[in-house]
This record gives sequence, structure tokens and C-alpha cells, in this order.
Amino acid sequence: MKKAIYPGSFDPFTNGHLDILNRACAVFDEVIVLVAVNASKKTLFSLLERVEILKAALAGKENVRIDSYEGLTVDYARQVGARHIIRGLRAVTDFEYEFQLASANRFANHDIDMVFFMASSDHSFVSSSVVKDLRANGVDVSPLVPPAVLNAFTKKGL
Ligand code: ADP
Repeated sequence: MKKAIYPGSFDPFTNGHLDILNRACAVFDEVIVLVAVNASKKTLFSLLERVEILKAALAGKENVRIDSYEGLTVDYARQVGARHIIRGLRAVTDFEYEFQLASANRFANHDIDMVFFMASSDHSFVSSSVVKDLRANGVDVSPLVPPAVLNAFTKKGL
């Protein structure tokens, strides 16, 4: 059984994330969407909210699990017996950060490899920050996020 981890902040989950996840699901038997617990990173949605959004958005996807973890993704991967970590690449600006992250992960655990999917052209500009910015300025973001995210914004009065 080939398992992979798709880690991220998911603040909130977007259709760009969903696209990467769907494509990873075509390659791996199980993909664990791992919400990063990073106390130093200020998020709009709490950890619990981000997990609840993911549960609603991904309900019915049989080979997807959702979890959260504080610590190195490679340590989580080792604990659950996964050898691959999924990430997405949009513009070249993502490359530098992702390359550094991949090198650090490989330094921490040589047995685990990163697998990258390139953003689809219709999602290449979509990020959680762009979605939050547009929504805060009254733009309809429904084409960019799953309905569960729209509900979560509404619930927050945003
Ligand atoms: P992090 O804070 O760990 O970068 P994000 O939730 O911002 O978490 O992103 C998780 C992963 O998904 C990253 O590898 C990011 O590059 C990728 N990603 C985010 N948005 C898109 C998108 N629109 N298309 C492809 N990959 C994306």
C-alpha cells in the first residue's frame, strides 16, 4: 500500500489544493492531508476549523485521511509508514522555498522523498492568502474554493 502525506497550512483549503490532492490520489493508494500545527504562524482559521473544513470538503473521498501534527512532517511520515510527501508548485517563486524544504526533509530523513505536482493553469494564481484577500474585499471566491470554505467564511462573519 503506497501512502503519501500532503502537508500544508490549508488556511483555508482551496481548489488549488484540491487539484493537487486529486492528482496525488491517482498515484498513491492513500493520501493523508496533514494540517500543520505551527504555533508561530498566525492563521485566520484555527486548527480545529481547518480540520473541520477539510472533513466537509473531502467527505466521501475513500483514499483520503485528514490529520494534524505538530513537528516535522518526515517524523509523522515515519510514524504512519509513508515514504512520500506531496507538495504543489505554482510560480518559480515557490521553487526556492520548496527546494530548501525538500533538502531539509531529506537531511532529516533520507528514506522519505518529496513528490511535486505542477499547478494547473486555472489554479496557478490561487493561494489561501489570495482567497482571503479577495473575500475580504467583497469578491465572489466561490470558483476558487470548495463550498465548505464559503460556509466557514460566512460563519466567521467574513
Ligand atoms: P504551506 O504553509 O505549508 O506552504 P499551503 O497550505 O500554503 O501550506 O500549501 C500547501 C502546499 O500546496 C504547498 O506545496 C503549496 O505550494 C501547494 N499549493 C497551494 N496552492 C496551490 C495551487 N493553487 N496549485 C498548486 N499547488 C498549490
